[in-house]
Amino acid sequence: MICLTLSGSTLSDDLRAVKENREYIDMCELRLDFLTEDEQKRASIFPSLVDLPVILTFRRLQDGGCLNISEKSRRAILVSALDGDFKYVDIEEDVKRSEVEDKAREKGVRIIRSLHDFEKVPEDIYSKLYHLSEKGDIAKVAVTPRSFQDVFTLFRVEEELKGVDKIVIGMGEYGVATRILYKKLGSMLTFASSNEVAPGQISAKELKLEYRADHVNDRTAIYGIIGNPVLHSASPRMHNRGFKAINFNAIYVPFLVDSVRSFFMFAEYMKIRGFSVTVPFKVDVLSYLGNVTREVKQIGSCNTVVRVPGMWKGINTDYYGFIKPIMADIDSGRIKTALVIGAGGASHAIVWALRNYGVKVTILNRTLSRAETIARINLCDYDSIENASRYEGSVDLIVQTTSVGLYPEVDQNPIEAFHFSGNEIVYDIIYKPKMTKLLSEAEKAGCKLHYGSEMLLEQGKLQFEAFTGYHYPHWVDSGLE
Ligand code: NAP
Repeated sequence: MICLTLSGSTLSDDLRAVKENREYIDMCELRLDFLTEDEQKRASIFPSLVDLPVILTFRRLQDGGCLNISEKSRRAILVSALDGDFKYVDIEEDVKRSEVEDKAREKGVRIIRSLHDFEKVPEDIYSKLYHLSEKGDIAKVAVTPRSFQDVFTLFRVEEELKGVDKIVIGMGEYGVATRILYKKLGSMLTFASSNEVAPGQISAKELKLEYRADHVNDRTAIYGIIGNPVLHSASPRMHNRGFKAINFNAIYVPFLVDSVRSFFMFAEYMKIRGFSVTVPFKVDVLSYLGNVTREVKQIGSCNTVVRVPGMWKGINTDYYGFIKPIMADIDSGRIKTALVIGAGGASHAIVWALRNYGVKVTILNRTLSRAETIARINLCDYDSIENASRYEGSVDLIVQTTSVGLYPEVDQNPIEAFHFSGNEIVYDIIYKPKMTKLLSEAEKAGCKLHYGSEMLLEQGKLQFEAFTGYHYPHWVDSGLE
């Protein structure tokens, strides 16, 4: 179930939020600590105004609530609200037998016994959960993973406590995967926000429409992307839309990772079928792969990992993703020479792709030794980025592969002094923003442009094929352009 947390200051605000999100949610949580004093007194009518089960919660300040109030008053307000037809009431684990609990039991309102930890995942999380469930209540833990290993600990909850009614939430950015894959944790619900998204929170609409989190079942195949940072990635949107369009029972999740080793252990445990790899792990994953394609071997970096019998296989789809949009111009002879700005991981794949098709390449980089390494392997020239102007008017293609100009530093251009003749084809692989400063200057000069979003889409389509065995459905808006 997807549960919308209501944080309005009036019941009308909360009602509006329920209406706006009605098609995405199965239940809601009325947070009394957000309501004004007068509205708290009217809270008992709320369940009769909505056609959903409602959780009654008055969060204390120390548990993330937003009202400083005496414990006696808090409980009195909860008791009064319980006159209404709430389905559940949240009671903190350290609140001893109280009038709230007595009234809830008397009325048959199910108790959610909750534990919050904003610092960490407690070491004895499984026994804590078990303890919370002892009286037949729903055990709830909302804890804060500080590493991917902590996330893994939360995913093992279901194996440790099968059959226990529970709600398990990983808060913060590491916890995002637990919110999306809540069913795999055996969590009876996931909390969603209305619109404003705090770190780690996901909107109800996104959970329902993009991730289809409530459709996950035992047979749902898990895919994802690992990176750090990763939550900005557009790949989940693309792959989840593709899965939905071809009725493929799968979900694609962003995993914020700090250790590739922890992730591979997790991937084995969860039987993950495949995943994309982004900065900074494209090289780190290599030592875990039993089989790699020729591109990965040559380029020394891998952006796609798939499960094959008995091992993990590494693929590099950046290579094809980059070359496809300019292939016609290479075939026609329009592109014979290229200037590649940057000598990082993406540059290596690009230089190799261009060399494979006989294009003469010069690499320009700030750190000359990195340009030299790629140039030596791929038999091409290299120079310092400061000398970019020397190549004015002498190349057919300019490819920008550095992170200069990437959001939020959108007013930067790594070759500021370079003058375009207008005859060059200019390709910036940055996709956020689509129109970088470099591209807008090239456009002014009359150059033909290629965008990072084209490469992203093409490499994503190939990943989709590697993951599912099917073409990316052409009728779907991938959300990448
Ligand atoms: P990387 O391995 O970290 O390489 C970064 C490159 O940027 C290096 O050449 C680095 O030069 C250069 N650089 C960074 N800051 C600079 C500065 N202030 N001045 C001059 N040069 C600077 O990163 P990557 O994986 O190759 O990715 C690079 C960019 O490509 C990122 O923006 C990424 O989003 C984008 N990308 C796009 C796609 C796509 O599908 N469109 C795919 C992959 C990557 P030094 O060697 O001197 O540090």
